[in-house]
Amino acid sequence: MALIVKKFGGSSVANAERVLHVASIIAEDYKKGNNVVVVVSAQGDTTDDLIEKANEINPDGSSKRELDMLLAAGEQISIALLAMALEKMGLPALSLLGWQAGFETDSHHGIARIKRVNTERIRNEIAKRNIVIVAGFQGINKYDDITTLGRGGSDTSAVAIAAAMKADVCQIYTDVDGVYTADPRKVDNARKMDEITYDEMLELATLGAQVLNNRSVEMAKKYNVELEVLSSLENKPGTIVKETVNMEKTLIRGVAKDTNVACISVVGLADKPGTAFKLFNKLAQFEINVDIILQSVGRDGTKDITFTVPKDMGKTAVEALSSMKDFLKYKDLTIDESVAKISVVGAGMESHPGVASKMFEALFDASINIHMISTSEIKISVLIDSENADRAVKAVHDAFFD
Ligand code: ADP
Ligand code: ASP
Ligand code: MG
Repeated sequence: MALIVKKFGGSSVANAERVLHVASIIAEDYKKGNNVVVVVSAQGDTTDDLIEKANEINPDGSSKRELDMLLAAGEQISIALLAMALEKMGLPALSLLGWQAGFETDSHHGIARIKRVNTERIRNEIAKRNIVIVAGFQGINKYDDITTLGRGGSDTSAVAIAAAMKADVCQIYTDVDGVYTADPRKVDNARKMDEITYDEMLELATLGAQVLNNRSVEMAKKYNVELEVLSSLENKPGTIVKETVNMEKTLIRGVAKDTNVACISVVGLADKPGTAFKLFNKLAQFEINVDIILQSVGRDGTKDITFTVPKDMGKTAVEALSSMKDFLKYKDLTIDESVAKISVVGAGMESHPGVASKMFEALFDASINIHMISTSEIKISVLIDSENADRAVKAVHDAFFD
């Protein structure tokens, strides 16, 4: 008898038919004698629709506390419906909201981190042979307020339960049958991988492959939770995410695209010590994550600094720097939101020269201009115009996989 954690994403529970199908997947494992804990996301586009409703009330932005209260409602609907579907099949199921399932988080509304999962309730229910259905993406802070974990956060809820309960398996069911070398909906010849390492999956997820939330991979690695990404539509093996893989190290594991990027340029800064410190210190105070940074060579006593931030942080970053104009003494501040980051990821590139040049050649052949470049041991990212993003992913993917 095993303890199995299963997570079903929004598309997997989008309507009654899908919910009933998911119930049958759960029933199969339960009837074999396994204990099953299930995490579900909000149905289909529910979370987007709820955000839209909030914008209708206050286009200038509602408080994060109330947004969390609203968004958490999406998952409440799915857990109840799924429990009802299992009940209908004559199986003992019980739905729990995040707080009932023991999810304690910090107070960063909208992007809260899980501090602890108090699994007592889940354990008690399982001991009674109940199938426990937990609302993903949500928890409670020390003030008893509802928090959410950030978009795609149900993956993290599932991994957190699997880690806290030392589950035998953590299965992430979605609308594709595994992790591919690029988004299979955008790149026809993308290939499915049988296995991928935590590190490579973490890079891919962080760089835009939304199939797994990056925090969930980070947590899986930390607590050594082996993940399987698989289809809720077709019954076949998916992709295993784990520490080391048997496959021969390939040069490149995948190509990812991130369009949630804005590029900010601060032109004509004083070319003297402390300028970069003051600038980025200000952004840090506003908890703005800076990604690629480029500083021009100084000329005539001035220099330019260009950097990228998540798109939804662009406005805050510009406001923060505008408030320092007299202090930083820059000449111009611009923001470009029509950019995208394209990345290649692979542990093999560490020991192989030529990956960057191959990537740049593919972009050159496709007449795509590169604005910025950043590298680490296992990835190379470029910033390009967003209108070229899908074409760029295809071109770069073809260069490495065709
Ligand atoms: P869920 O609602 O199940 O959480 P998501 O929409 O968050 O599903 O993630 C699944 C989607 O991720 C797929 O439909 C696919 O378009 C996209 N995706 C992006 N990159 C990849 C990749 N490298 N491999 C597989 N899917 C990917
Ligand atoms: N429903 C949330 C979202 O759409 C969480 C999730 O799907 O994982 O982001
Ligand atoms: Mg998701």
